[in-house]
Amino acid sequence: MTSRQTILILGGTGEGIALAEALQSVPNVRVVSSLAGRVANPKLPVGEVRIGGFGGVAGLTEYLRNNEIAAVIDATHPFARRMGWHAAEATAAARVPLLRLERPAWIAQPGDNWTLVNDWDEAVAVLRISAKRAFLALGRQELAPFTALTDIAFVIRAVEQPEADIKLADAEIVLARGPFNLADERQLLQSRRIDCIVCKNSGGDATDAKLRAARELGIHVVMQRRPARPDVSQVGDIAGAVDWVRKL
Ligand code: NAP
Repeated sequence: MTSRQTILILGGTGEGIALAEALQSVPNVRVVSSLAGRVANPKLPVGEVRIGGFGGVAGLTEYLRNNEIAAVIDATHPFARRMGWHAAEATAAARVPLLRLERPAWIAQPGDNWTLVNDWDEAVAVLRISAKRAFLALGRQELAPFTALTDIAFVIRAVEQPEADIKLADAEIVLARGPFNLADERQLLQSRRIDCIVCKNSGGDATDAKLRAARELGIHVVMQRRPARPDVSQVGDIAGAVDWVRKL
């Protein structure tokens, strides 16, 4: 890049934070990180941050134009279902280059006992016939489908307290934010006599210790597949994204 250009990072992930940090060393680049504002106390990236939705595709398109954004990097979570589609449409409308930064998905290894599902309703159907004590490693806004399972004891791990109106018959809430290590995951699963873990295929090494512990302990994992994404240029790591910015 020759003149100073503004890169918008759509964040809310560890990758978003690491990328903002890494781009500090690229000359003539100004970085603005954008967060949805879901978490009351988010971990903030270095540099400029804006918080809150853009107001759909139209709002994001207007933002890109008004703020003279030179390029967008979509570093949102693999399970953020909407933002990537909005970014694809808005960048096409505003004629701004877009890159998707997405960590590789987890792949089952020998010893794993995974059942892959497309959504939580499918997970509920699997749990109904196979689980007695389940560990739900998913977002606090995603618990509603599991209230149908009144014969299962749940351990729920979330970053913030789930909504009070979600009523699970038997549930222990563990408030924690990753990364999690193998010894702690093993202890959590064994002390609660968990027979099934429910999670998303988030990928990465911040939260994969529960899968390694499940492999060791022979625990069944019900894992949601990643949602569909628009077909855009993609890299799997920070170095690839920095390289893309340098070549703009
Ligand atoms: P989503 O379904 O893709 O997005 C819903 C709406 O939230 C979007 O339409 C947009 O609102 C706003 N939004 C999302 N990401 C944004 C960002 N980085 N900056 C500004 N606005 C954003 O996403 P979600 O599942 O609700 O997740 C929200 C955020 O949490 C994402 O940034 C994601 O990276 C992070 N996160 C999600 C998960 C997960 O499992 N879903 C896990 C960890 C972190 P407007 O239409 O008004 O622009």
